[in-house]
Parts: sequence; structure tokens; C-alpha cells
Amino acid sequence: MELRLYNTLTKEKQPFRPLDPASVRMYVCGPTVYDFAHIGNARPVIVFDVLFRLLRHVYGADHVTYVRNITDVDDKINARAARDFPDLPLNEAIRKVTEETEKQFHADVDALGCLRPSVEPRATEHIPEMRAIIEKLIEGGHAYVEQDHVLFAVASMKNYGRLARRSLDEMLAGARVDIAPYKRDAMDFVLWKPSKPGEPSWPSPGGIAVEGRPGWHLECSAMAWKHLGEQFDIHGGGIDLVFPHHENELAQTCCAFHHDRMANVWMHNGFLQVEGEKMSKSLGNFVTIRELLATTAFGASKWHGAVLRLAMLMTHYRQPIDWTAERLVEVRKALAEWINVAAAAKPSATVLPQESLEVLADDLNTPGVVTMLHAFHREARSGNAEAAAYLHNTLRFLGVWNGETADEIANYGLDASDLPSREEIDGYIAPRTAARAAKNWDESDRIRDELAAKGIVLKDGKGADGKPMTTWEVAR
Ligand code: AMP
Ligand code: ZN
Repeated sequence: MELRLYNTLTKEKQPFRPLDPASVRMYVCGPTVYDFAHIGNARPVIVFDVLFRLLRHVYGADHVTYVRNITDVDDKINARAARDFPDLPLNEAIRKVTEETEKQFHADVDALGCLRPSVEPRATEHIPEMRAIIEKLIEGGHAYVEQDHVLFAVASMKNYGRLARRSLDEMLAGARVDIAPYKRDAMDFVLWKPSKPGEPSWPSPGGIAVEGRPGWHLECSAMAWKHLGEQFDIHGGGIDLVFPHHENELAQTCCAFHHDRMANVWMHNGFLQVEGEKMSKSLGNFVTIRELLATTAFGASKWHGAVLRLAMLMTHYRQPIDWTAERLVEVRKALAEWINVAAAAKPSATVLPQESLEVLADDLNTPGVVTMLHAFHREARSGNAEAAAYLHNTLRFLGVWNGETADEIANYGLDASDLPSREEIDGYIAPRTAARAAKNWDESDRIRDELAAKGIVLKDGKGADGKPMTTWEVAR
């Protein structure tokens, strides 16, 4: 088995060769913590979680380090803090916003079945590393101080633009860069800037007398360096980050440490849109993870995190996704059916069946794995125990099944309403099954009607073992 990954830097799918197989290192740009994460933000988190699981499987869990940062210094955070907590000193308000948002982010991505990364560094805890990188860049002639700012001198780097594959003119047009008076060249970008009164601030590098704060790109270079070294294997994020964020991270790190590479492989997920349109607050189709998990974002349903996760993985990570309610309904149905069969199966001895592994190792071909799940399910239903075991293990490996029952997936979130609880429903189903076994149809119908009056519809069918089985759903 060979792991192959598409590399944005070379525009090719290439065999993955870690710098050190005993220490495989991956960095993914994490959230800026000022607001609820939306379902688009969930995409890189889920995609790189699947890659993390795959790397751990191939190289061993103790030989993979996954760093996903928390950006906790940013203009958007300051603005939110001032708006939400106008009576608090700004620094205290900022701490409240970042702590609360981080907590919510964790709750959201935990519910989506994502493992925690090995390290989750916060930008504000890496200011000394940022200052050190700036000093190295100034020393090497790659950065300069002007009007209390430190700027990266793009002209000092011969192949600036090689990740984005754009010419300087294209980048200028694309980035809509400000022509600020402290820039020698319009493309130069900020490494450090003076803080406004009340904003978070730290002693500045480069002999600047006033206190200041770092630029966003520099934060990731500093955290990646601290936790993964000057060079590492994989750098990931959404496609929108290629330029300018990743181009600039690469420029800073390569010029500070005199290497021609920062990460060997750069991976970028495609964008998610909602019901055919770009997600935006003004269009009213802005969906947070929390809403999907906990309230009625689409019609009357709430969704189990596993359904959201599987819906995400049905599209290849580099393709755009159109996120629709219709897809969620389909996924919920399929997942409940699969779990029904998988739960009755004896797991296979290999953690991830070879068939699934090979497909997944081909640049994380998750839609290919979903096709295999359908096939495993079909074969398992016709009595193939090996296929049932493969289904079981592949669902587990993808993190779309963590031991829930099929009913929990299909009827997730309904407990909160005035419908009967799962236990109450089970209390009806058991005597009804007994009545049916005794061919006491009057009693069985009576129980069915009693439950129907409470909003629960029973469905009689066959389980994976071919025996009669009754499932339930909420009447719509
Ligand atoms: P941000 O909070 O905008 O910095 O984004 C955090 C992460 O989510 C980055 O990796 C972005 O590329 C990614 N991201 C943001 N919006 C979307 C979207 N609509 N679809 C996919 N990924 C997104
Ligand atoms: Zn970053």
C-alpha cells in the first residue's frame, strides 16, 4: 500500500514520503476564535482528521504529530470583544470571547467525531518565537522596519508566489493589497504592527520602541516551527488560504531558516456552499455547526454529528461541496441501515480492511470508500459475514460510527420534544413483539395505534439476521 497525496505545490498526486517515518508531522490552520464555527469551517477539521487517522494507522499512533492552532489575536476578535462586552476592559473582554469560542469549537468538532490534534497551540503563547523569526528575517535582509511596523520584503525572495503559482502582477490584483505609506513595495506584508491603545500588545522586535502585535501569517510560521521544526511533512487548510496566507507562511519560514521548503506537501480542501449558494450572513443561509447539531436548521430535523461527518466525506476533499438538506436525509437513512447491519457483525481482525485502505490511501478518496460501504452493506445483507465485518470496521475507522445504535442516528435529537423517550418506546415494542410472536394481532395493533397517537410510527421489517424486527420513526 502506498499513500498518495495531491500536493498544491507541485500540482500533482505524489507518493507520500515522510521526512522521518518515526515522526510524521502535520500542521493545519485552525480557527480564529471570535464566532461560532460554520459548517464550511468543519470541512478542513473533518478532512484532516481522516488524514490524521490514516497516518496513525500507517505509521503508528505514537509516530504522528498533528498541530492545529488557535488564532487568538486578530482584529475580528477585538471588534467582537468591544461589541459584546463594552463595559469590560478590552483585554478581559478579548479573553472572554476567545475562551468561550474555543470551548464551543471543541464541543462542535468533538460532536463531529474528530480526534483532538496532538497539540493545539495558541498564537498568544508563541510571541517569543514570532519575535525570533522577525529578528532572523531582518538579519537576513528579508524584512525591514518602517514607521513602527516590520514588513516582509517580497522582492528579497526569488521564488515568492510559487505555491499560489501567480505572477507578482496577478497577486497584486488578487490580494487587493493596501498601498500603505510604510511599505517599500505594494506586495510587502506585515510581520508586526503597533497596537492601538487598549489592544493586546507585546514588546516589539527590531528595536521598535512602542509595543505591538504580530501579523496573522507570522503566527502560523512560529507555531509550526515550535512544534514541528523548521521543516515538516504536511501543511493543510482550506483552498482560500493558499494565497496570501500560506504563500506568506512559506516565505517567512523558508527565508528565516534558509531552506527551500517549509512543508513537503501542501493540501487544500475545496469550498462548501449551501443549497447552491455561497454561504453568507446576508443571504440568510449561514449555517453553524451548532445549529445543525442542536436546532431545527433544515425543517424539523436535527442531525447526529456522524450524519454531518459522513455527508462531508461523501465528496472528495478537493471538490466543492453543495451542502443540502436532501443529502443529509439520504445520509441519515444510509448510515442507520449500515449501522444496523454492522452492529450485528463480528468485527474483522484488521483495523481497516485492505480494500478500504487502498481506496483511502489514494489521496483520501472518501467517496470511493462510501461506494465500498454500499457494496459491503449489500453483500452483508445477503449473508456475507466478511462483508459485514468490513462494513463494521470501515465505519469505525472513518469515525462515522462510534457505537451508536441505528435508532440513535435516525431519531437523533428528538428526545427534547414531548415525544415519548426511547425507553418508553422500547417499553411498547417489546410486548408488541411478544404479541406478534403469539399471533395476537389485536393486541399488536392496539399497541401500534397507541404509539401512533403519541407521534411514533412503527415499521415492521427484517433485521440483518433475517428475523422480524420493528423499528420506529417520528410521524411527519
Ligand atoms: P477562517 O475561520 O475563515 O479562518 O477559516 C477556518 C478554516 O475553514 C480555514 O481552513 C478555511 O479555509 C476553512 N473554510 C472557511 N470557509 C469554508 C468553506 N465555505 N468551505 C470549506 N472550508 C472553509
Ligand atoms: Zn495558518
